[in-house]
Amino acid sequence: MSEGRVAGRRTLKNWIGGEQRAPLGGRYLDDLEPATGDLLARIPDSGAEDVDLAVAAAGKAFPEWSSLSLQERASCLVRLANLVAEHSEALAEIESADTGKPLALAKQIDMARVEANLRFFAGAAQHWPADAHDMGPAGFNYTRREPLGVVALITPWNLPLYLLSWKLAPALMTGNCVVAKPSELTPLSADALWAMAKEAGIPPGVINLVHGSGVRCGQALVDHSEIKAISFTGGTRTGRMIAAAAAPRLVKTSLELGGKNPALVFADADLDQAVAGLVRAGYTNQGQVCLCCSRILVHEDLMEELSLRLTDAVANLAVGDPSSPDTDQGALISAEHQQKVLAYIDLAREQGGRILSGGKAHHPEGRCRQGYFVEPTLISGLPEHSCLHREEIFGPVVTLQSFASEDEAIELANSSDYGLAATIWTRDLATVQRTAARVKAGLVWVNGWLVRDLRTPFGGMKDSGLGREGGRWSLEFFTESKNIHLPAGV
Ligand code: NAD
Repeated sequence: MSEGRVAGRRTLKNWIGGEQRAPLGGRYLDDLEPATGDLLARIPDSGAEDVDLAVAAAGKAFPEWSSLSLQERASCLVRLANLVAEHSEALAEIESADTGKPLALAKQIDMARVEANLRFFAGAAQHWPADAHDMGPAGFNYTRREPLGVVALITPWNLPLYLLSWKLAPALMTGNCVVAKPSELTPLSADALWAMAKEAGIPPGVINLVHGSGVRCGQALVDHSEIKAISFTGGTRTGRMIAAAAAPRLVKTSLELGGKNPALVFADADLDQAVAGLVRAGYTNQGQVCLCCSRILVHEDLMEELSLRLTDAVANLAVGDPSSPDTDQGALISAEHQQKVLAYIDLAREQGGRILSGGKAHHPEGRCRQGYFVEPTLISGLPEHSCLHREEIFGPVVTLQSFASEDEAIELANSSDYGLAATIWTRDLATVQRTAARVKAGLVWVNGWLVRDLRTPFGGMKDSGLGREGGRWSLEFFTESKNIHLPAGV
């Protein structure tokens, strides 16, 4: 791969059986740079016929790949991780250009995590203990974990390679072959990773990549009769459609979906720590992280001081060219998404909300003046039942609400249909223990946000998804258990 340059107006192909293949239907989609609106690349608008080829290539590679030893598969992943480390600057530039996120974030969060995902699962699968159950005179059981076959990985645009590698690594380590479909809005980093597969020693056909829209390419993958499991991260609406499509064939699904995550700030919170943490939790990646805390619930005694301090901190975030080292906030993913986020802010005004900071599109000087920027926005004073408190906006928009008691805080926290993550800000351990147990969320951070241990279960409750990823949860998802009973004395 060429160091230090973004792909630039290339025409991408699919990766099938280790080869680059143009889409059979000859159809292409435009991939735009969010910070400028310029064309970055043309990508295949693949259909069912391309998906068929990719699934067939994966099926052909499966017998050999699944019979390799764990150490042999781990060596491939470690070599791929080494290549990611070697090319991390160039990969970060690609990711930043394709998503609009600040380059520094793409380096420090995205590419660091891609490498960590590959190394982590290369090790975790080798340290995964097998189950055995001794029945004494009635014999002995041992449980094999067998690969599923060809699995589909479907991923969103906000953390493109970070999330794809989070699925790819455990799928491969457990012996499966893969057909991946990244978001059509951010296809470039996956293409760059696939270009490294041969050098990493991954045999042809073990990993296949098809580009295209969700409705054509994604749906064809989900509907394919040879797909044995679907690991999906994306919006709740799409997740429901995938679950419905998979159900008649009893295909396993892992669904990591949307969020509307609360931050609960109690009266004894350390305000310096809370303000810094809430800005990070609210606005990282322009608020386009499923875990972002987009509603701050604060004890009424702290409301005034916290809102003043947050207003200042949010107003100080630098919005602009993602490639500049001074930029805190880059562009949103698309013009359509920018309009959706601005429409929510207009609605907040109509509902009587006070815009404490931000509230408009942002037009930087220079090369990014046509980009899809929105000022980081903080809103208070909305009615309790406002849709801004309940619906996922997935942009740099955070609302503030006050509560008078712990019960009220929990009621507000649990009032959305989502249940992905929550943060709790207090100095009191008993408050932590009570509220962490009562809040309906799959992940809770105390006096912090996004501290990740890859061994722990990751996923949401309610409309935020089904199943968990991470550590043994990912390894279990990508395998089938087979129990074998031996009689005593054998
Ligand atoms: P999306 O659901 O629109 O798309 C996600 C992927 O699904 C894309 O690759 C898309 O092409 C594909 N797709 C769309 N329709 C499909 C269909 N009918 N069949 C098969 N595939 C289809 O989501 P998005 O806009 O790309 O991502 C944003 C959403 O992702 C947000 O809701 C966010 O909260 C969620 N997300 C969740 C997590 C998590 O871990 N829970 C992480 C990141 C993002």
